[in-house]
Amino acid sequence: MNQLIRCKNCDEIFMKTPLDQYPEYEFDFNRPFEVFRSIEEDDYQDFLTHHQGHQLENLEIIEDSFVSQKAYSEPVKTSFFKATNGKEKFVIKKFREKIDEPLKYLLIPGDYSLKCTAIEIQSEEISKQLKRELKPPLSQDKIDAFLKLCHTVAEVIDIKELERIPEESHHPLEIYYKIDDIHLVYLLRNCRNIFKGQEYSAMEEFIHRHKDDGVLLLRATYKIQLAEIAKPAKKTIPTSVALKKDKIAAKK
Ligand SMILES: [Zn+2]
Repeated sequence: MNQLIRCKNCDEIFMKTPLDQYPEYEFDFNRPFEVFRSIEEDDYQDFLTHHQGHQLENLEIIEDSFVSQKAYSEPVKTSFFKATNGKEKFVIKKFREKIDEPLKYLLIPGDYSLKCTAIEIQSEEISKQLKRELKPPLSQDKIDAFLKLCHTVAEVIDIKELERIPEESHHPLEIYYKIDDIHLVYLLRNCRNIFKGQEYSAMEEFIHRHKDDGVLLLRATYKIQLAEIAKPAKKTIPTSVALKKDKIAAKK
């Protein structure tokens, strides 16, 4: 459905997708479909006119390459995705500066990757859940000791070894992970130093209840790292310079 067209001469792109370009019309049922279809067609005609005589090519969007800097529900945000012409890869920046503006697409020579900037435990949620579930209640000192222990696990753990829980996150750059078995054993073993008897059993159950989809999931925050490659300078003489030369020649 979406068609991404690149002008090889200008390194400009055009995304043929009516609903994407004009989201403000999406829920306007009074407006006939042909209206935004024709707007899109006009824009496409403008692009073709502007790049007349240039070499155009279709780019294929690389699946699962989409990353965004803000929550999915935010209308004004910058996203990136990758596309290819079969030989070269491109980064495409998709953005909108104001809510009533159409989406803009910009071709960036280079690549991007996601860098993990922090791995955190859900301290507040763990604390809240412990207070709610454990009877008799734990002392604040013991809650703090358990949080400290979880924090130690988050510090030593290698995120690349962990299983990702995608459905937990509402933000594209926040990903939740399950603590692996080795670190669960570590967590339980160290709990024995803090909790005894009945209290330990209750904590063991708590850990098992919350390790797969609960408050014990670790939250990793990512950053989009854009690596731009400097474009090679074009050797063609700009039209204005060529005209001046002609004028000089004519004066002689
Ligand atoms: Zn062009």
